[in-house]
Amino acid sequence: MTLMSVSENLSLIQEKIDAVAAGAERASDDVQLVAVSKKQPEGRIQEALGAGHRTFGENRVQEAQERWGALRATYTDLKLHLIGPLQTNKAGDAVALFDVIETVDREKLARILGKEMEKQSRALPCFIQVNTGDEEQKAGISLDALDGFYVFCTKECGLNIIGLMCIPPINEEPERHFKLLAARAKALGLKHLSMGMSGDFERAISCGATYVRVGTGVFGARSKA
Ligand SMILES: *Cc1c(COP(=O)(O)O)cnc(C)c1O
Repeated sequence: MTLMSVSENLSLIQEKIDAVAAGAERASDDVQLVAVSKKQPEGRIQEALGAGHRTFGENRVQEAQERWGALRATYTDLKLHLIGPLQTNKAGDAVALFDVIETVDREKLARILGKEMEKQSRALPCFIQVNTGDEEQKAGISLDALDGFYVFCTKECGLNIIGLMCIPPINEEPERHFKLLAARAKALGLKHLSMGMSGDFERAISCGATYVRVGTGVFGARSKA
């Protein structure tokens, strides 16, 4: 394992993002790096903040509250993305803490998020998570139900859906899923695509990603706990 600092990793990944974006004739600020900080030690987060990085992804509401609740006061320009499954009883907390919700994936959740956003006067940008691999254990709306669910989220719940998000099946070529997600977003007139992680973010950008979610590539290995 190479021992690079978090700031070196951030520069390296940003260089790669810029290169792929340029190759695809896209502006490099068209692609945002979400540094996935879940289960990472505090020191590494501080390093990323010190390097000027402000966009982070967390997959659990409570862990994110503990980590970012206080830091928000210092770093007022933080952008926190929720990238993990959201339980309806945590929806209020999630709306209060996060800036972007990437995992809207079922009607009950969409309805509660809509109510909470109205109550808190926080109309957060949201992504619909799509289960492109039709995996039983994985979160995300099915491809078949996507168009109807989009209408439900926007018309019934008043959610500001800006794009689609997916996590391709672990043992498959991710490109097929990235392309599928891009096609579905285009058909719905949605501008944003959250796809690509440490192992495949460059391929995701080639397929149109506007947000890539990179954890270990930025921070190194996560603690197992
Ligand atoms: C953990 C996680 C990531 C980051 O994965 P890495 O392989 O560490 O880059 C991206 N997206 C989601 C939804 C995750 O839960």
